[in-house]
Amino acid sequence: MTKRVTETGSETLGSDRITPSYRPRQVEKPAPCQAGCANCGDIRGWIGAVAQRRKTGITREQAYARAWRLIAEVNPFPATLGRICPHPCESHCNRAELDEPLAINAMERFLGDHAIRSGLPLPRTDTEQSIESVGVVGAGPSGLSFAYQMARRGYSVTVYDARDKAGGMLRYGVPDYRLPQDILDAEILKILELGVELELKTKVGEDVSLDTLQERHAFLYLGIGAQKGRGLRIPGEDGPSVMSATEYLGRVNKGERISLGEKLVVVGGGNSAMDAARCARRGGAEVTILYRRSLQEMPAIKHEIEEAVEEGVEIRLLVAPLRIVRSDDGRLIAVDVQVMQLAEPDGSGRRRPVPVEGSCFSLETDAVIVAVSQVPELNGLEALDEDGGWLVADRSGPGKQRLWAGGDAVGLGIAGEAIVQGRHAAEQLHAQLRGDSSSPGTSRADPVGPESLLFESKPGCAAVHPARLAGRERVTMGMAEVAATISEQRFLSEVERCFSCGSCYGCEQCFMYCTSGCFLRVEEAGPGNYFSLNLEACQECGKCIEVCPCGFLEVT
Ligand SMILES: Cc1cc2nc3c(=O)[nH]c(=O)nc-3n(C[C@H](O)[C@H](O)[C@H](O)COP(=O)(O)OP(=O)(O)OC[C@H]3O[C@@H](n4cnc5c(N)ncnc54)[C@H](O)[C@@H]3O)c2cc1C
Repeated sequence: MTKRVTETGSETLGSDRITPSYRPRQVEKPAPCQAGCANCGDIRGWIGAVAQRRKTGITREQAYARAWRLIAEVNPFPATLGRICPHPCESHCNRAELDEPLAINAMERFLGDHAIRSGLPLPRTDTEQSIESVGVVGAGPSGLSFAYQMARRGYSVTVYDARDKAGGMLRYGVPDYRLPQDILDAEILKILELGVELELKTKVGEDVSLDTLQERHAFLYLGIGAQKGRGLRIPGEDGPSVMSATEYLGRVNKGERISLGEKLVVVGGGNSAMDAARCARRGGAEVTILYRRSLQEMPAIKHEIEEAVEEGVEIRLLVAPLRIVRSDDGRLIAVDVQVMQLAEPDGSGRRRPVPVEGSCFSLETDAVIVAVSQVPELNGLEALDEDGGWLVADRSGPGKQRLWAGGDAVGLGIAGEAIVQGRHAAEQLHAQLRGDSSSPGTSRADPVGPESLLFESKPGCAAVHPARLAGRERVTMGMAEVAATISEQRFLSEVERCFSCGSCYGCEQCFMYCTSGCFLRVEEAGPGNYFSLNLEACQECGKCIEVCPCGFLEVT
């Protein structure tokens, strides 16, 4: 085994020589995956609940229920996010140094699907029923996350949404081939089962005023998202056959068959652009995406870009539309395109695209989908505009205490971020009302790095990857889901790959190597807690620290 105790321990004085001493101590440290994502909660904990089930004397079913509960503490949408999250947690996984990061997202999906199949309910907290009623505007992931966190703490919650179904952009933006609606329905139902009331087809600001809701409820959370697609502001844009990606995807996701012609141009490089292009491919169109920067700057999730290309979408980089060309009778016939190059980084940190003088061309097309960005739609809610069309989440100002906001309405992001913001608002509001500070705080300690792990202690083994249909097959299968949930066998082998960075998983190496009997088994063993330390017997050889594979033991 490789010796990893490179640091000199505390030093024992009193003889001619200074002798390094390696007295161990047990220190639980943050895992890097958790540091990489605020929404996955205790990732190491829920993986450990399954990986260590035999050591802790629970059945596989009990382990799944425990793992699900740990995830659901922070995220009521694991089956949903297990399908669509760009999983920043995985890019922080120490295991990447050995072979491949853990497939955390695929495991989350497995547990989410298991919870749906097994009818596992979302966990309530043990707080008493509260008298305050809270209202939520917007049944997207942010509003529903807030509603869930308040309802499980005993508050009476009503969610209002303008649409005829709940889910926000998860339903009306993300297409079914990535997220089937029955999965979303099942996870939303679990939230409603906590007693959350849902009032659909109710547009706040039009069907009911904000003032009325403020009279009805003690507090309001505004999770209205960013429903309005931004335009290109180029000549020819106003007229038939130009549509925003949000409108197009919203209609497709409602089951409408939209024919935009044989050739389609999609402008933009984010998830909306990829989704619109891939939906249009499924409708039989020849699709070209125009993006004004390079592939490196493209904001869409990387594998969505790859899948779009596999499905036959053409992506043209470093080009921007100049003008939409129409025939005399107003029919869209082409887009004039400007070739771009990248200059210095702009405020977003990405390199700024600038035109290449004299480099333009024309691209024939029947329609254009504009997927450049979205902004909140504030009809009837103009008083909420505090930041050039956006809401602000900061509730510290006078008169703001009863209105909270989060999700895309305060800045475009991903679903996981919208969920985190809903949860944080609920935790803060609850703490404000009850003086309860039981919500998990964020650790300031540095996460465990790969240098603290003993990679030799586990065999090298590539991560599981969800099976996917081939590109051509995906297009012909229409809206059928393109990626499968991993099997139980693969899930169980994947949990074994976790090094439990920074927390004891009961491998017993310290116990076996210690010749002084310092390590005593604890009666109620559980993740992070398998042995207590009897340091009186310690001979300070440091062997236990050397063989600890997860960085839990360190020099005193
Ligand atoms: C096409 C597309 C693809 C995406 N793909 C991904 C992805 O793969 N992975 C990922 O993590 N994120 C993705 N995102 C981003 C993600 O969907 C959003 O970040 C997230 O949905 C934001 O949640 P939200 O609750 O803030 O807003 P929304 O999901 O937009 O929900 C807001 C809700 O408020 C309602 N509402 C608005 N105004 C009113 C009003 N006045 N009265 C009543 N109700 C109102 C709306 O009807 C809507 O239901 C994608 C977004 C889009 C558009």
